[in-house]
Amino acid sequence: MWAGRVPTVPMVAATAPRPPVTFPLDDSVRAAARRGLALGLCPECFGRLFGRLGHGLSNPERAARLAADLGVALPVPEGACHLCGGAFDRWETWIQRVRTAAEGREWHRFSCGSRWDPEILAREESIWVDVGSAFGESARGAFNRELGKRLEAATGAVGGPDRPDLVFLADLPAGRVELTVLPVYFSGRYRKFDRTLPQTRWPCRRCEGRGCDRCGGTGKTYPTSVEEVVAAPFLAATRGEGSRFHGMGREDIDARMLGDGRPFVLEIDRPRTRTVDVAALAAEVNRSAEGRVEVLEAAASVAAEVVRVKEAAPLKSYRVAVLGEASEAKINEALAFVAGRAIAQRTPTRVAHRRADRVRTRRIVAGRLVEAAPGRFTLDLRAEAGTYIKEWVEGDGGRTEPSLAALLGVPLSVEALDVLQIHDREG
Ligand SMILES: [Zn+2]
Ligand SMILES: [Zn+2]
Repeated sequence: MWAGRVPTVPMVAATAPRPPVTFPLDDSVRAAARRGLALGLCPECFGRLFGRLGHGLSNPERAARLAADLGVALPVPEGACHLCGGAFDRWETWIQRVRTAAEGREWHRFSCGSRWDPEILAREESIWVDVGSAFGESARGAFNRELGKRLEAATGAVGGPDRPDLVFLADLPAGRVELTVLPVYFSGRYRKFDRTLPQTRWPCRRCEGRGCDRCGGTGKTYPTSVEEVVAAPFLAATRGEGSRFHGMGREDIDARMLGDGRPFVLEIDRPRTRTVDVAALAAEVNRSAEGRVEVLEAAASVAAEVVRVKEAAPLKSYRVAVLGEASEAKINEALAFVAGRAIAQRTPTRVAHRRADRVRTRRIVAGRLVEAAPGRFTLDLRAEAGTYIKEWVEGDGGRTEPSLAALLGVPLSVEALDVLQIHDREG
């Protein structure tokens, strides 16, 4: 990886003055230089023996200064340099290889590295010892830095380790460039009004996605998902090869997601285009999925947002329609009892196939009876992230303790569940 100084502007546009040149020579450097001169290296390799001495000079410039100081002419090696093999003389070739590797892709930021024959790197280190230089710079580091500078000048893209679009690995022994394409990210919030839609693509349990009779050959348990509905226009516009959908938690398939929606980051793999009209694509999602899914606050995003979204554990508000016979007074009493109290929830039976079986502690922060009628009532609940609301109401066969059913002493069942709000923007 090219880990040189991170330029903040493309080198082509650089008008900043060069830093002052320093190259402090003393007798021990001169003695090492005399021994180095005798090796018949190219100016880059000779200068690089002192590459970490001083500032503001290229390695060939260091070589020229050393030769002038010693009063000798720089030797010109016959044929390719026996250390680097001429690697530093073929920039146009490497730039062309990079252009070929990146062809058809939009990129603005890059980093680059190189793969060398380890024997060359080992020989170089033994030369530092032989000539007695404490200032040797590795061929790989110098090559990566120089290639990065030249790519910036040739393409106008910005090099450095910070959020590259593309990573180029110059494979010197093989004479080719390996390309890594970094994903492009979009963020937003989604609302979901369809009680048959899972958040993400849900592979068929029997065939694990290969396609079978049970899933009608689709490889999926559900025909589509929030992920697929949202990703489709973004995939088309970026001409990417796949997507990943990172939600800030997830609601049950049969729960609606209301309020300001749920934060998500959409990651598109190996995009060809990175600059897209995000608002227009979100509008396309909203047209095509009207009444099922709505995307709000769509924007370009970055990889770090994935971590933020996955690690957030905000409070959530729910509306729960419950079937069961209980008086308003008893319901209010139970809600008052439970508010802020720890609830022990063993992993529900319905998710036990994909989650470890353990007991977790969560809190219902607040509860309110919205309305009551014979045989049914509606609650608003505010709960900690990860609370299994359905199980808390119904009891899940004693796996949630205490449950609302146990507190009321009657069997209850959840008729409908909605997420009213994700409180990620509060406190
Ligand atoms: Zn060389
Ligand atoms: Zn299947």
